[in-house]
Amino acid sequence: MIGSIIRKVREKQDLTKAELSTVVGGYLSGSVSREEMTDFLRAVCDEGLTEGATVRLTEVMLESGERLTFTLRDYPYADKHSTGGLADSTTLIVAPVVASCGVPFLKMSGRKLGHTGGTIDKLELFKGLRTEMTVSEAEKVVEETGLAVIAQSKELVPADKAIYKLRDETGTVKSLPLIASSVVSKKLASGADVFVLDVKTGSGAFMESTEESVALAECMVKILFAAGKKAAAVISDMDSPLGDYVGGVLEVADALDVLEGKKNRLATLSLLIASKIVSLAKGISFDLAEKEASAALSEGRAKEKLMKMVLAQGGSTELFDGDFRAKYRKSPACEIVAEQDGYVEHIDCVTLGFAARDAEKQGGYGIYAPRKKGDFVKKGELLFALYGESALQEDVLSRLQHCVTLSSQQVDAPPLVHRIVE
Ligand code: URA
Repeated sequence: MIGSIIRKVREKQDLTKAELSTVVGGYLSGSVSREEMTDFLRAVCDEGLTEGATVRLTEVMLESGERLTFTLRDYPYADKHSTGGLADSTTLIVAPVVASCGVPFLKMSGRKLGHTGGTIDKLELFKGLRTEMTVSEAEKVVEETGLAVIAQSKELVPADKAIYKLRDETGTVKSLPLIASSVVSKKLASGADVFVLDVKTGSGAFMESTEESVALAECMVKILFAAGKKAAAVISDMDSPLGDYVGGVLEVADALDVLEGKKNRLATLSLLIASKIVSLAKGISFDLAEKEASAALSEGRAKEKLMKMVLAQGGSTELFDGDFRAKYRKSPACEIVAEQDGYVEHIDCVTLGFAARDAEKQGGYGIYAPRKKGDFVKKGELLFALYGESALQEDVLSRLQHCVTLSSQQVDAPPLVHRIVE
């Protein structure tokens, strides 16, 4: 049976809900083996699925677990989701900004996927912080603080939990129907009513071209609309790491710096996403929402909110102290500098992301990656700095050496936001 379903995918035939249930349900129950599921995923990566089958796959994933509903508050619950990027700690900024504007925010986040970072791994850097919480515990945190970010619960979309892990292990992540069904099934199960999706585009994204990213965004927004949700998607640049630090505690520090007023691309994108959410949730103009969101950030209320959430989830707040954070970036363990003058033409975000992942496993604090596509650098100027001692540093260093390509010709910087789909 599974063999004939894989063949149908290979022949670009449509799949019924029963067939998709056979695959997904079978993998969860053990009647479809890891190898068979990998073959199915690889076929979907190679051939895609029809739009109808993508919707049906989303339904099958959603129906594999519980669906939450929340007691209505003044405004509907909001949530965001990124399709995965580098130096992308927007959730740590968006969540408290939105909550400071009075919109309840409850998000279930994932771990690292492929070369990209995961919010749960970042939250665990607040020592002791609990992300494995029941939904009613998380709701209590929202009651108390206005926001909560927890790990995907076992009861919620168990199909995604299992398949996400397998996709990460087998390199079968890059696929519009697999990403769309993974993201949207989680969003529909999560009980929120307002969503802003951050669809990354560029060499460091799972979808490299703007066209593919727009197609993914449109597909996800369409499924959410059909389910009666308010949704928008921002197509944002991932030709360069979003913020200034990739991986580890320094990526979290970058987000906390933004909550204390630092301006960078991470700050700009986070403010845009938060404003969009506030506008949809409150039914107010984007301009008004942006004023509210900017004030929450500049008056320090968003930082206070995040601190309250960290405390309520049992985490340590030491990282909120600037002096404590500073000790992690006191002196780099090693640096990589430009060997010639030139414009940054390409950043190999995939290699950079995996290097950061490996460095972190060995106790690295993170990689400072201040250069963005289109920047001009002079010979001898810094490209990357690696913080924290680690056994793998030599290996990490040699990989970073080839991550940036410089050109003598001027290179245009891509826009931070390519398009908004709503
Ligand atoms: N984020 C998800 O939740 N799923 C994917 O497949 C990719 C990014």
